Amino acid sequence: MKTIAAAALSLSLLAAESSDAFAQTVTVTRVGSQPSAAGPESNFTGTVRVDARFSGTGAARVGGGTVTFSPGARTAWHTHPLGQTLIVTAGVGRVQQDGGPVQEIRPGDTVWIPPGVKHWHGAAPTTGMSHIAIAESLDGKAVDWMEKVSDAQYEQR
Ligand code: MN
Repeated sequence: MKTIAAAALSLSLLAAESSDAFAQTVTVTRVGSQPSAAGPESNFTGTVRVDARFSGTGAARVGGGTVTFSPGARTAWHTHPLGQTLIVTAGVGRVQQDGGPVQEIRPGDTVWIPPGVKHWHGAAPTTGMSHIAIAESLDGKAVDWMEKVSDAQYEQR
């Protein structure tokens, strides 16, 4: 009898721990509930808009948003401490790793930028581009910004 009672007690404790672990709720953030943000002039060339920004809670360190570049707009050179994934959703864009060719990217393409790799991404010269950008933070930081991408670097094909 004691054994059964002990087992029942540990089961109920287990159930309590499980329900605590799942006490957090699923969150739907509605479109339009956070204003569009402008990509700051210090880190971008041209007109860039960021929407649907998101970040994980608790121990999660994933975050990102949807970034929309006007024709000719692009990020500055930068790195991500734990890498970055881009999912192109509209338009025509460009991505380049330092020392590599400028690559054209289109809707449906996904791009993986490994940790610490210097690169930039942006729109094509005459067509805008949107991508979803996803990166994990290391010590609260997901990007290290560097110098701007010059017109000569941008136009290299
Ligand atoms: Mn990047």
